[in-house]
Amino acid sequence: MPAITPITQDVLTIPRALPKGPVNLVGLTRAQMRAALIAAGTPEKQAKMRLGQIWQWIYQKGVWDFNAMTNLGKAYRAVLAERFVIALPNVISRQISSDGTRKYLVRITGGHEVEVVYIPEEDRGTLCISSQVGCTLTCSFCHTGTQKLVRNLTAGEIIGQVILVRDDLGEWPDPGEGMGERPRLLSNIVLMGMGEPLYNFENVRDAMKIAMDPEGISLSRRRITLSTSGVVPGIARTAEEIGCMLAVSFHGTTDEVRSNLVPINRKWPIAALLDALRAYPKLSNSERITFEYVMLKGVNDSDEDAHRLVRLIRGIPAKINLIPFNAWPGAPYERPEWGRIKRFADIVYKAGYASPIRTPRGEDIMAACGQLKSATERARTTCR
Ligand code: SAH
Ligand code: SF4
Repeated sequence: MPAITPITQDVLTIPRALPKGPVNLVGLTRAQMRAALIAAGTPEKQAKMRLGQIWQWIYQKGVWDFNAMTNLGKAYRAVLAERFVIALPNVISRQISSDGTRKYLVRITGGHEVEVVYIPEEDRGTLCISSQVGCTLTCSFCHTGTQKLVRNLTAGEIIGQVILVRDDLGEWPDPGEGMGERPRLLSNIVLMGMGEPLYNFENVRDAMKIAMDPEGISLSRRRITLSTSGVVPGIARTAEEIGCMLAVSFHGTTDEVRSNLVPINRKWPIAALLDALRAYPKLSNSERITFEYVMLKGVNDSDEDAHRLVRLIRGIPAKINLIPFNAWPGAPYERPEWGRIKRFADIVYKAGYASPIRTPRGEDIMAACGQLKSATERARTTCR
């Protein structure tokens, strides 16, 4: 047999290479864009300044035509236009709920679709973005988890969702106006759409770095919340490499119940998850963790569950977000009566934790937590 030359090591040590052909600038990290600009002939000494200028055009001014980037020389703009593109995912449809919630269906390369939800509130506007098409995990109460098709979104597709919605909201400053001069319509980001963000770590991290960058979208890290189903090794990494706020989909107070609801609990059970969560606030310098708890009638909504929950999380600075189950066609669960949810919330509150009950938003357009699933996929399943 001929000898096989191992190439694995080489592949692993090559930094993520830029693809051939016009390169999309959206989603590149600072280091990647700097390298790309230098490769396109930008003198090294100027690269940092050019990068800052281009970032501001893309992320702060919503200008995606190189020709309109007026602080760059004409010849340089032509070089950029030849070598690069500024490409965003396509918005296929937009639905606006009676409560103002907007749901966008967005198509990415390859024809896949993800959903993005904008939730306006009195003091903030929250954008719920997706990190994957579908989800490889199969939480039994979640519509996304029933979707077969899965692929990771690129960093550009993740930050692209933010840019698209800012554009739809008309949230670009007028010429001459700075970024901080008007209250932000899109002031918060939650990674609570489709997908498990910690299973697409690098792309989520790179996109959130752009969201937090003062020359990028420029949102404080405290206005970004990443929600995980409990991918334990990714939690410390989130603290170290992103530093945003953390939410965890807890949902069960015994390993037996939690494993049925969130199957990843079989891999990282409650005790291991709590250890990782205990370390998070210090590592990330954030005040508290949000525990999400979907209320399922007769499954996890008893007084005993509430007491067990507060015992388990003792010592962790936390807020408990109670999410009344949002139904979807064929779902095997029901939402508990209001009185039951209220009683559960009271027990948690009396134990010293904020326990807001998340009011479902955009119910009329199926935009609530756990209902996201791409329309084509939905059509496919209902036709079977
Ligand atoms: N994959 C990540 C983030 C996306 S889900 C995670 O699981 O944390 C965002 C939140 O919605 C999670 O807490 C999830 O458990 C919850 N959720 C999923 N389906 C739901 C449903 N049908 N009703 C209410 N909440 C749901
Ligand atoms: Fe995936 Fe989160 Fe849905 Fe579970 S709840 S299937 S992790 S999107």
